[in-house]
Formats: sequence, C-alpha cells, structure tokens
Amino acid sequence: MRTKRAAVLAAVAALALGLTACGDDADEGTDNAGGDKSFAAGSTMERLNEAQAITIGTKFDQPGFGLKGLSGQPEGFDVEIAKIIASELGVPEDKIEWVETPSKTREDKITEGSVDMIVATYTIKDERKERVSFAGPYYEAGQNIMVKKDDDSITGPESFQDGTKKICSVTGSTPIEEIKKYVKDVPSQLVPFDTYDKCRDALQSGQVDAVTTDNVILLGYIADDEDAFKLAGQNFTKEPYGIGVKKDDAEFRDFINDILEKAFTDGSWQKAWDETAGTFGAELGTPPAIVRY
Ligand code: GLU
Repeated sequence: MRTKRAAVLAAVAALALGLTACGDDADEGTDNAGGDKSFAAGSTMERLNEAQAITIGTKFDQPGFGLKGLSGQPEGFDVEIAKIIASELGVPEDKIEWVETPSKTREDKITEGSVDMIVATYTIKDERKERVSFAGPYYEAGQNIMVKKDDDSITGPESFQDGTKKICSVTGSTPIEEIKKYVKDVPSQLVPFDTYDKCRDALQSGQVDAVTTDNVILLGYIADDEDAFKLAGQNFTKEPYGIGVKKDDAEFRDFINDILEKAFTDGSWQKAWDETAGTFGAELGTPPAIVRY
C-alpha cells in the first residue's frame, strides 16, 4: 500500500516537473533548431522559425536578380537578399521553397497566403500598398528600353509617339503602365506578355522593336547576349525595390527592415550584389534609405 502511494507521488512529481519544463519553454518563446533565435509569440517570425520552412516568391526569368537555370534553384540578387532574411529567421537554405511570381501575380500570391514574402524586382508603389506591405527599399532601379544592337532609330520613350514601332512589356508591371503615356496607339504598338523572357524572345525574332522594363533586368539580358541587344537612352523612372509581405504585418516588416539595415553595413548586401547583378556591370550605388511606416 505504502509502495503504491510512493509510486503515485513520484508520478505526480515527475508530471509537475514536466509541466514546469513546458511552461519555461513557452515563456522563453521560440528556441529550437534555429539556434539562439527567439521571436515574439504569435509573430510571423515565430511561425516561420518554428516551421523551419519559408515559401518565397521570386522571378525565374531575370538574369542577375532571379533566374532558374540548370541548377534547378533560382539565382540572383533578389534570391541572395531573400536568403539573408531566411537565415535571420533561423530557416536553413534548403528549407526555402521558391515560387515563381510573375509581375501580375504578386499581390494575389501575398494576399492569398501562398507565399510568406516576395523578393522579385518589386517596385514599392502606393497602389500596391492598398493590398500588400513593403519592407525596404533595398535597391533603386530605373525604367529603360532595350533594342537590337544595330537599331539607332529608338532613343527613348518618345520614339513611340509616331505610332509605328512596337514595344513589349509585362502585365501587372510599373513599366507597362508608364510606357502607355508615350505610346500613340496602345492596342497596336504595345505587346504584353506575362514574363520578360518572352519579350526578349519577341525582340530577338523581330516581332517587336523594343522591350521596356527596369534597366537592371534589361542589363541581365544584354549581358547574356552582348552582340544582340543594347539600352536605348537613359533611365526615365525611379523603381525602388521592396520586399512584399502581408498588408499590415508591421512586425515582420520592421524585422526585415532591421535585417536590411544591418546588411547595408556588414558587407552582406554588397557581397550579394558582387556575386550576382554586379558581375555584368550594373551599379549598386549607396544603400537606399529604408522607409518605415
Ligand atoms: N520593378 C517593376 C515592377 O515592379 C518592373 C519589374 C517587374 O515587373 O518585376 O513592376
């Protein structure tokens, strides 16, 4: 009888110890395979760290920023920036699921929750902020025009005002909206595709006379085939690149902004550039001022 009671007491004591241990864990927040990382309870950072996985949207067709080549994994500046953030979340690189996010799909992909964030040459725009939020900027590009190397007839967006030349851009992008201000007859002159590599192919085959988007995307295609293409004139917009997250997830936005500011000064932002878009002579410039809101 006494033995039985002792066993019961021992079991109760063990249970109490176990409960205490669990309670301690909960109080300390997340602290697992992500190493010494600890995040606020209920935050996106805690969820991703606990899952040890993240789904990131990027481009698969843009050399230097997000290009899925023979390795099967996307490569580029956007991809490197995304990896820096995943690492700060304690998520290993091989637990990143990369999802292709063509320009038109980005807001939908974020609002429906099929990606946790998007790093994809994604210009911070007030219209877009109605549906998603942005951390950053982490780079500033500018819209430009790419033509065939031997074409001197196009010198800038004004060259489309006479109504003859065709230009290609991508649906859901800022450049396709901007070029409409210059093109005389949009239905016959402006050719929309869903990805920029299709525009590049259309220029190559002579279906269009030009492609317009951000200078650094075009420079990636030019570097791929220097005898084929060139830029026609100067940048004519400013395109500050942000990281898209769920609207009003201010905690996650602040967390990413802190990481970017650290990357600007510890050499990792520069390194990411030097190994990607920097290899074909695009300019990184000085770190842009982070816009917190
Ligand atoms: N940065 C521009 C945009 O976000 C053009 C590049 C792109 O389509 O990703 O629309």
